[in-house]
Amino acid sequence: MRITVLSGGVGGARFLRGLRASLRESHPDGSGGTTAEITAIVNTGDDMWLTGLRIAPDLDSIMYTLAGANDEVRGWGRVGESERVSDELRAYNVGWPWFTLGDLDIGTHLARTSMLRDGLTLTEATERITARWDLGVTLLPVTNDEVETHVVVEDAGTTMHFQEWWTRHRAAVTALGFVQQNVSTARPAPGVLAAIAEADVILVAPSNPVVSIGTVLGIPGIREALAEASAPIIGVSPIIAGSVVRGMADACLAAIGVETSASAVAAHYGSRAGGGLLDAWLIDEADASEAATIEAAGIRAVVVPLWMRDIPTSAQLAADALAAA
Ligand code: GDP
Ligand code: CA
Repeated sequence: MRITVLSGGVGGARFLRGLRASLRESHPDGSGGTTAEITAIVNTGDDMWLTGLRIAPDLDSIMYTLAGANDEVRGWGRVGESERVSDELRAYNVGWPWFTLGDLDIGTHLARTSMLRDGLTLTEATERITARWDLGVTLLPVTNDEVETHVVVEDAGTTMHFQEWWTRHRAAVTALGFVQQNVSTARPAPGVLAAIAEADVILVAPSNPVVSIGTVLGIPGIREALAEASAPIIGVSPIIAGSVVRGMADACLAAIGVETSASAVAAHYGSRAGGGLLDAWLIDEADASEAATIEAAGIRAVVVPLWMRDIPTSAQLAADALAAA
């Protein structure tokens, strides 16, 4: 079975870790890796050049989480991290003082940047970097073109990189919209369209609908490939009981005029029959009353627990998504 997952960073990573666990459980003979192939198509809109390094936050969040090298307590980055290099950069007044890169994390960025400088694409660099770990999931950047997400803020049409808005301003500066730089000439990276066309199941992770999944869907050719895919497309709501579970996705939804609710995000993605994305949408038990609204929009609503508290609850959620397919 070929499973393709559209994913952002932290929410996507937790979901992918659950999906991998669920498949390993259902194949206790150890054949989980051979009978099921998981491919993640990952948002690259948060990527940027900083202090001479190419940073790819969502690819790295997924890699660290699947490798078991992530910091569970802090919720992002590497476990056992130190910040000596960032302190030095700050002393030189280089980079963003409010954006700390850990030393181990900088190792990843150096590796990636060196490969890009050698002429490899981001796809090739990601393949080499992820080969170090036993991930059990193939990570594909959605595009090899530098399509960075910028935020249009109140101040006279000023824009800033998404990371500045998110990390420096904690999304507290009102966003009027999001711009994908150079998106019109971007192309899906090698393997991405095939992963969609050849999938048996396509899952939309409970990731930020605007700046993670929305960015993936914005790359020319992706929506068309999804519309033509023979696989069912099942999405998982990142919204539970009218709020985001982690992070500040509500500020992103507000900027594009979508209410922070499971049914509003479903309507935003749209039903496949109506030219949109979804065949089915998993919502939490707390949102069961919204099922009828979702069904009325032509999307099957499946009510299951959506909290990914730990690996078992994430695995159960992934199993429920597969069952819906
Ligand atoms: P980012 O790129 O690191 O911001 O991460 P993603 O875009 O992949 O995911 C962010 C989204 O994950 C947030 O909008 C959260 O609402 C959602 N999320 C985080 N944890 C959970 C969870 O346990 N359950 C569900 N359903 N959604 C979650
Ligand atoms: Ca992200």
